[in-house]
Amino acid sequence: MKTTDRRSFLRATLTGCAGLASVPLLGGLAGCQQAPSRPGAVSATARTVVPTVEKLANGVTLVSGVPGNVIALTSSDGIVLVDSGATDAARAVKASLGGARVHTLFNTHYHADQTGGNALFHKDGATIHAHVITRQWLSTDYYVPAEDRWVKAPPVDARPTVTFREKGEMKAGAERVEFGYLLEAHTRGDIYVFFRDSNVLAVGDVASPLRDPVIDWYTGAWLGGRVDAMDDLLALANEQTRIVPAYGPVMTRAQLQAERDMMVHLYDRTTDQTDKGRSAQDMLDDGVLKEVNREFKDPYRFLYDVCKGHWAHYTNFGGNIV
Ligand SMILES: [Zn+2]
Repeated sequence: MKTTDRRSFLRATLTGCAGLASVPLLGGLAGCQQAPSRPGAVSATARTVVPTVEKLANGVTLVSGVPGNVIALTSSDGIVLVDSGATDAARAVKASLGGARVHTLFNTHYHADQTGGNALFHKDGATIHAHVITRQWLSTDYYVPAEDRWVKAPPVDARPTVTFREKGEMKAGAERVEFGYLLEAHTRGDIYVFFRDSNVLAVGDVASPLRDPVIDWYTGAWLGGRVDAMDDLLALANEQTRIVPAYGPVMTRAQLQAERDMMVHLYDRTTDQTDKGRSAQDMLDDGVLKEVNREFKDPYRFLYDVCKGHWAHYTNFGGNIV
């Protein structure tokens, strides 16, 4: 893998993002991707949500089935929440917290199943923390190319109120809470939140043990960014860390390492194929995905998104595709 090339590109891009981020709602940022089968898609049909609540550590609770995972850290001054669930699950999330006040809410990224409860918790007094680019996605109507439709921006109350570009930390009671940017891994505004003392690491959709991994290329994600982000997460974790993805079961570091190694193999194979002018369908026909120990529910869709991301980043891996 051309790690050096990928890293130097990402650093350059981080600087570029800072410049971009200072200009709100550039035309190119107004189009955001949430495909129908993606985690961001939320049913308009009302449904009864019954969350599952599981204790991960002292004071740290996993609320799942809303429709993904939400994490709550309880301390003497209230709750720190990581993601707020879908809009139609927000009240169920709130009820699962036993009436304690949420003073801080993190959004791991902008997708609607992570941010649908933002307005509810904000109205109750929570500050919403997110990457500055996540705030931009949540501040404008955006286009969904896979559905050829526009999605209306959520209400102003749903927008993050505190943003950052790289990393930071805070205290919640005695707990050290660290957070940082995961550049271009799943969207272009992904972050991790690490409860350092409880050793619980929230990684959003940057790890995907259950669903097909999603490369939201329209917002700037690509497979190279995803591999780098997974390396950053592995550097934070140890063998005891409970790693919580947006969907699916809690992971160990070894499981995250296995998913990262699979992504490295696919990165090497698909960039090589892209260099040779091969399409997503060609890669599917060649059985590229059969080389890894993973059952893809929609293998063409995954490869299509991978290729779109590669084409947008071809200068990084030496591709000559234009
Ligand atoms: Zn997502």
